[in-house]
Amino acid sequence: MIEVINLKSIKKTYNGAPILEIGEMTLQAGQVLTISGPNGAGKSTLLRIIGLLEPPDHGSGKFLVLGEKPTWNNHTNLRRRMAVVFQTPYMFNRSVYENISMGLRWRKLRTSEVAERVHEVSKLLEIDFLEQSARQISRGQTQRTALARALVVRPEMLLLDEPLSALDAKLRAKLLTKLKPTITEAGRSAIYVTHDEAEVKLIADKKLTLVDGKIER
Ligand code: ADP
Repeated sequence: MIEVINLKSIKKTYNGAPILEIGEMTLQAGQVLTISGPNGAGKSTLLRIIGLLEPPDHGSGKFLVLGEKPTWNNHTNLRRRMAVVFQTPYMFNRSVYENISMGLRWRKLRTSEVAERVHEVSKLLEIDFLEQSARQISRGQTQRTALARALVVRPEMLLLDEPLSALDAKLRAKLLTKLKPTITEAGRSAIYVTHDEAEVKLIADKKLTLVDGKIER
């Protein structure tokens, strides 16, 4: 199996206070790893480090993302191969359709293929508000739009930080069940941060719990 993530002895300190201390963490291609744990446990920090949005402490141990050691030279390329979805995503002041298709237009896909992919992902996430302004939809609709925007580019790895927290439990469960095969299609993998046990049960191939910055065994 191809190992996409391999972290060993990764540390993060803020203002002298240790926030994260990961002994070892691995993820194989095609798997969904859930990270749960209480507020302040370091879940988002870990996700940001893996997403190369923040470096671990200088002198930390082994750090492989998408099978590669991040360096100055491959940073942009690695970032392009993954997509991050935050709990409170940023929406551009355009329609939902334009927000979802943005990444595809940057990648210069044909208009017909863009439309095809946007409609496919919208169907999956039950987005029937494509023409609305993305700044005027509800929090739950915003989260679904952000997830669609990430999924549509088919990244090798998705990093999801409580991406469906604003949805009601019933819709969340329904969407997660439908999403799982799409997320892991063609050997793609995901890290899913949540503190909802029901979500873990629905989506996890592998799970870990963080408490005070450490993996609880
Ligand atoms: P979680 O996602 O599990 O709620 P976070 O990773 O957001 O936890 O935060 C872990 C700890 O790190 C918290 O104590 C938080 O206050 C602290 N922290 C997070 N980001 C920063 C930052 N940029 N500067 C200082 N402290 C931070």
